Amino acid sequence: MSLKLSSRHEWVRKSELRAMSVECERVGGVNLSQGVCDLAVPAPVVEAAKAAIDRGENSYSRHDGTAPLRNALADKYRRRAGLDVDPETNVVVSSGATGALYCSCLALLEPGDEVILFEPYYSYHESTLIATEAVPVFVKTKAPDWSFSMEDLENAVTSRTKAIIVNTPSNPSGKVWTRAELEMIAEFCQRHDLFVFTDEIYEHFIFDDMEHISAASLPGMWERTITISGLSKTFSITGWRIGYAICDAKWAEAIGNFSDLVYVCAPTPLQMGAAAGIAELDDEYFEKLAAKYRKKREVLCGALDEVGLTPCVPQGAYYVLADVSSLPGANSKERAMHLLEKTGVASVPGESFFKGIEGETIVRFCFAKEDDVIEDACRRLQSLKSGRVQAAG
Ligand code: PLP
Repeated sequence: MSLKLSSRHEWVRKSELRAMSVECERVGGVNLSQGVCDLAVPAPVVEAAKAAIDRGENSYSRHDGTAPLRNALADKYRRRAGLDVDPETNVVVSSGATGALYCSCLALLEPGDEVILFEPYYSYHESTLIATEAVPVFVKTKAPDWSFSMEDLENAVTSRTKAIIVNTPSNPSGKVWTRAELEMIAEFCQRHDLFVFTDEIYEHFIFDDMEHISAASLPGMWERTITISGLSKTFSITGWRIGYAICDAKWAEAIGNFSDLVYVCAPTPLQMGAAAGIAELDDEYFEKLAAKYRKKREVLCGALDEVGLTPCVPQGAYYVLADVSSLPGANSKERAMHLLEKTGVASVPGESFFKGIEGETIVRFCFAKEDDVIEDACRRLQSLKSGRVQAAG
């Protein structure tokens, strides 16, 4: 037989994030690796989705989303970011933020176009660029505040540079981009005539009086910014696959056409649940959500500090990068495996987020877990201190 895989299959590999979950299941450990949020879904979201199913709203929706969800999103961006979003022409609901970014890249990038990504980066961003034949170009950010140098950014630009990806708050670093940083990016993108793809999926997970700012809201940025986000994290509905792109109508139509081609539409009744959540849950709900996660961050970071895995305390999102240089192993994969076998706590090896060697002594933990799961993980981590081996399970 001469049949074989396409040459494209090499471009996308099984995510390290999923691989660690498989290992964790094998040893019956506590999974703080994948960003799977297992907290309760807000009641209005569940009720509205159930009611939509009961009413028989189970067919395809308009390819770019149901009217209630597009309207709720337009209202939200008007209120939160001061953007004049037309629900008819500026909103594309897709299969998660992941689908929205994929379709945006298909619609706006030529093969060979270079796209700047900040390191550490979310591996799906890199893979999405590669799968759509764009070329990721990395610019380093430095702990503890994950700042970058404008000189590095300028050096990354070539005649092929077409776009930049800004993930705020960021996975995995938790960096919340400041207005001053976004203004530098805005000036840079206008000077070099670049698109900005933002990923704002953790917009409601902000700590320590930081503020979430949408790049599209800065002067002169609306036309070149594709604002990407979704409800997976905000409403703990990662399996519902509801995300979106908000942008100028001249880009939205083509992005919507690709979303139609690949996904047809996001699940209709689940869109109705998401729409109800956006319309009905007030600012107090989102403040409480951030406060709840801040507490989880304190507990996990405290435990990591205590056992000598110094955390880089995040300003946003729900991950923490920790220094595992004290653990045995030649690289972060071996160190993460040692940690899993010794304590039963699964993390993601840092090399999934870095091109350089910085990732070799770092792992990432996710704290989007019920309090008792985090407490269990913290107890297990204590065995590093006592030298006692914690039986997994
Ligand atoms: N963007 C970032 C930065 C993420 O960390 C994740 C999930 O971990 C996603 C997007 C996935 O979003 P969605 O479920 O809407 O596709």
